[in-house]
Amino acid sequence: MTRTVAVTGAAGSIAYALLFRLAAGEVYGKEPVRLRLLEVPQAVDRLDGVLMELADCAFPALVDVVATTDPDEAFADADAALLVGAAPRQEGMNRADLLRANGEVFRTHGAAIGRAAKADVRVVVVGNPANTNALIAAHHASLQDREDGRRMDPARFTALTRLDHNRAMSALAAKIDAPVGSIERITIWGNHSNTQVPDLTDALVDGRPAPEVVAEVCDGPAAARDWVADDFIPAVANRGAAVIAARGASSAASAASAALDHLRDWTFGTDGVRVSMAVRSSGEYGVPEGLVSSFPCTVEADGSYRVVEGIELDADRRARIDASIAELASERDEAAGLGFL
Ligand code: NDP
Repeated sequence: MTRTVAVTGAAGSIAYALLFRLAAGEVYGKEPVRLRLLEVPQAVDRLDGVLMELADCAFPALVDVVATTDPDEAFADADAALLVGAAPRQEGMNRADLLRANGEVFRTHGAAIGRAAKADVRVVVVGNPANTNALIAAHHASLQDREDGRRMDPARFTALTRLDHNRAMSALAAKIDAPVGSIERITIWGNHSNTQVPDLTDALVDGRPAPEVVAEVCDGPAAARDWVADDFIPAVANRGAAVIAARGASSAASAASAALDHLRDWTFGTDGVRVSMAVRSSGEYGVPEGLVSSFPCTVEADGSYRVVEGIELDADRRARIDASIAELASERDEAAGLGFL
């Protein structure tokens, strides 16, 4: 089966790290891929260069590439849409300015997806503020009349917290000097912002409770709790800024890698393994229905995802998650105040 994948912001730095891996088969293996690349008119020349390089790689699975500035053309019959393009955060911009600029982009893209993409499209929002952009896009998608007479299900829209999840895996692995492959059940809760809640309370290292393993290297449970609160959580939440400080450029390669992890797992399933995805809440863990929040999720082999339920939250996790959810609710209210919801 040929997969049609739309990518926005296709001339940007994340897309530059993403498109070649996608075309090389890192999500769909040998299945043929069609790319639909969306850009704004001022980036079309740069996108031409990307098209040339894609051609020069002679990827056997890449059967067709279309570059366009028309969202309806970009999202037509899409099986997946990676929404990377977003107005950048600029000096002096406050959150309302960023929401205003991006609300417009995600309203337009969401509406086009609602009209033109396949009804079971998988949408992954990368552009920030990702959770609220996903909420806006989903809302406008679900308002559209479609040729097939169906309405787009807002649950087809998700946001990327897999990079935070991967960062948390690596931070824990480094602390306990274990391979990342030995770790499972890390979770990111809440918003993809610095209020996010990286959580290793239920994580396992080779089947052993991670807090126990951390306590061994930290000289006891109290010191382990301090490391989690003072090092692990802030380091994961602020890792993007640390990469910018070191590299002089943003974490485009790891963001691209995480977006591909998210799409591959959502498409082919996680075989029982928990991953973090920001998905539309149905009220799980007290998150108001409709907010796009990060949760521990599993994906069945048929591509249906579900939030892992039944995790007992202690007071500390509850308070941290509540703070992140309050931020999501206030972003939603601001977006509504600006007329995007
Ligand atoms: P990037 O490709 O580096 O980033 C794009 C978006 O991803 C930003 O919102 C950025 O957020 C976000 N992001 C999420 N996670 C990460 C992460 N870990 N590291 C870095 N960024 C992350 O931006 P570029 O400026 O290089 O490219 C954006 C492209 O989008 C441009 O080519 C532009 O023309 C295009 N664009 C297209 C639009 C459209 O199709 N209508 C609309 C607007 C832009 P943050 O800003 O917080 O870093």
